[in-house]
Amino acid sequence: MELIANKPIGAMGRLVIPEIIRERHNLKQGSVLDIYVDGESIVLKPHKKPPQLNNCCVCEKVYASLIVQGQLFCTRCAENLLKEIQTALEKE
Ligand SMILES: [Zn+2]
Repeated sequence: MELIANKPIGAMGRLVIPEIIRERHNLKQGSVLDIYVDGESIVLKPHKKPPQLNNCCVCEKVYASLIVQGQLFCTRCAENLLKEIQTALEKE
């Protein structure tokens, strides 16, 4: 485990996460962290949304309508994927 910084806890229990960590883990305002406790350690991990059953596997738009190879796609992402496949095939 690598020590990055010592930070005081502020008012209301707030903690500022150093910029180097925010950039490394692509944390932005509104990003959600999962907080774990392991003995005396407190571990923060970027929250990963569980895959939603009816969402597009590319853009996560709700109510995707096309199933290709067992994956759900919205119409827009399916069209983009088709264009990419056609472009790749033309280059062969
Ligand atoms: Zn999509």
